[in-house]
Amino acid sequence: MKIRIVTLGCKLNFAESSALMNTLIARGHERAKQGEQADICIINTCTVTDTADHKDRQAIHRVKRENPGARIIVTGCYAALKPKEIADMLEVDHVVAKPMSEFRHAYSRDDRTRCFLKVQDGCNYFCTYCTIPMARGRSRNPQISEVVARAEHALAEGAKELILTGVNIGDFGRSTGESFIDLIRAIDSIDGTFRVRISSCEPNLLSDEIIDFVAHSRHFAPHFHIPLQSGNDEVLKIMHRRYTRELFRERVEHIKRVMPNAFIGVDCMMGVRGETAERWQDYLDFISSLDVSQLHVFTYSERAGTRMLDMDLPVIPQREREQRSKILHRISNEKLIAFYRAHEKDTVTVLWESKKTADGRMYGFTENYIKVSRPYDRTLVNTFETCVCGIDIRQAL
Ligand code: SF4
Repeated sequence: MKIRIVTLGCKLNFAESSALMNTLIARGHERAKQGEQADICIINTCTVTDTADHKDRQAIHRVKRENPGARIIVTGCYAALKPKEIADMLEVDHVVAKPMSEFRHAYSRDDRTRCFLKVQDGCNYFCTYCTIPMARGRSRNPQISEVVARAEHALAEGAKELILTGVNIGDFGRSTGESFIDLIRAIDSIDGTFRVRISSCEPNLLSDEIIDFVAHSRHFAPHFHIPLQSGNDEVLKIMHRRYTRELFRERVEHIKRVMPNAFIGVDCMMGVRGETAERWQDYLDFISSLDVSQLHVFTYSERAGTRMLDMDLPVIPQREREQRSKILHRISNEKLIAFYRAHEKDTVTVLWESKKTADGRMYGFTENYIKVSRPYDRTLVNTFETCVCGIDIRQAL
């Protein structure tokens, strides 16, 4: 059978789709080529916001239109949370709806250079706005030895960058009695020329010990992605986040003290219930004062089954949410430009990627996640080059 998998959402979904495709190929199926009709189409969905649900449905319509004879199977977080909504769609033949309780290994290669390695799944935090624990189940992980074996396999296949991926990866070890710091120590002890990024880690779990280890490690890049979600303590409480903004500031300052060139990306949500005008202003003042490199902005949308819907709190009108989102995007751009400018002319190590652009250039990322380009040279693909950082800011925004 010819199979097509369409993936929406996060890196974890991409890693899982890739693992699923490999399993199907091992069982004798084929990947449908570009433009070819598939016999089975699998849509791996996301449900992080209303917009994500909407995009899932659009993808299902489009895939059926493009593959009219195919069986359509829908899986992923949207399928786990709203199976009936999907099953009611005329195009859909089967919904895989059960959240899993065991850990399933997965990794994906988005380019010849990078490998997204799933090290953890699920979450026990139950933040009041989030449906992920319902869609993906409880926190779980494999043994460190299994992750190391998979990392070694990916490196032997030619990957030069591993990105440790999960839902709440700082929680690694919960199901095996190990810890995240033990995991990163074990990965760092693998020999070879490669680097590792940590995809995202809750601030309460990103300990100084982990930060200090990264600073002195052989392979870990000075690149952090930390979810803040709100810069106002009362809103953080409403969200049931497990830290105060002062703890967040301490983490950022500690990173910058031991790795002044580190890139710090921050998840910022806005428009949640109870985010009054005063609290929003307080959030803005806080985020503006932080030495971080980029914001990943998420607009709150009401999700069925979350506790925030039961809270008696002021609802922020949609228009106002859009305004707030624009403000955070503007702050993000300013921060990114400032970060890029501060590191122009630094000596950096770039991992060059395989894609050749229409104007004959190639791209790569520095260890601290600055996107750089140069004229295409095939011999440089998937190699590290140490050079002086020349920056084209338009590429970054
Ligand atoms: S930490 Fe909170 S926001 Fe993140 S997946 Fe868990 S419940 Fe959702």
